[in-house]
Amino acid sequence: MPTTNARARTNPTRPAARAGATARSRATSSAAKDTAARNATAKTTAAKNATAKATTAKTSTAKATIAKANTAKTSTAKAGAARRTRMAPPVETLDKLHTIHPDAHCELDHDGPFQLLVATVLSAQTTDVNVNKATPALFARFPDAEALARTDPKDVEPWVSTLGFFRQKAKSIVGLSKKLVDEFGGEVPRRLDDLVKLPGVGRKTANVVLGVVWNTPEGVVVDTHVQRISQRLGWTTNTDPVKIEQDLMRLIPKEQWDPTSHLLIFHGRRVCFARKPNCEGCGLSDICPSAFDAENVGRKPKRDRLGAPRRDA
Ligand code: SF4
Repeated sequence: MPTTNARARTNPTRPAARAGATARSRATSSAAKDTAARNATAKTTAAKNATAKATTAKTSTAKATIAKANTAKTSTAKAGAARRTRMAPPVETLDKLHTIHPDAHCELDHDGPFQLLVATVLSAQTTDVNVNKATPALFARFPDAEALARTDPKDVEPWVSTLGFFRQKAKSIVGLSKKLVDEFGGEVPRRLDDLVKLPGVGRKTANVVLGVVWNTPEGVVVDTHVQRISQRLGWTTNTDPVKIEQDLMRLIPKEQWDPTSHLLIFHGRRVCFARKPNCEGCGLSDICPSAFDAENVGRKPKRDRLGAPRRDA
């Protein structure tokens, strides 16, 4: 049996062949590893690309959705703003309001100009309903200017104590009664200039009396309802009552000034509420530029705890 040396001698190429085979095998396995690594890398890259694509697709879908929503919002806002630049035709609107509220009238209970003057002064910063609860007893005890003029305001306070600012109001109604007795024979004057000189009487109160009693107002009474609904109807863009009154006086025939405020006040109390106007049930919805989009029109600005208008309001 030949020894290894003998085999080596008889087949001198064997070790070299083995070495070659080993080298080939090493090379092959290294190549396979490289290929596997390349494949793995390719797979990872493909996966990354797919993820990136999916993310891009998601992002662009989200962007498109936001853009769509923004466009829709903008066009709704534009449509609302464009509609509000229109105006409900004043005469047609008032005709409709007469039909909707045929019984519109001043809701302060009174008997004659003196009682109406006193009731209107008492109605500042409170409701007509509250005033109507207080005045029957007040007028039973002090039926005219003479009776109130000779009374100390302190003695009138208990009769009006259910109303806000009652001390100031007691002073005002005694003061105006004294002036009526001293300068106007106890009667209520029929001129705005005379009325506004009475304690506690401003232009609004004077026009209530002139309009309700004699239908000779020298302006339009603008309270919170008149203010809000005039804005919703597109009759004014102002927020200052004095400027709103001027706008209304320009738009509305003089003989309609007094009924206009009663109609708008009735409408504001029964249909066109500040927070949730009842546009579905409103007979003006076909001509009102704010119909179905009125909640933020004519609202008082929100205020912070110190009473300043809020920036985000
Ligand atoms: S209730 Fe609506 S439709 Fe009617 S006046 Fe007010 S905002 Fe206009």
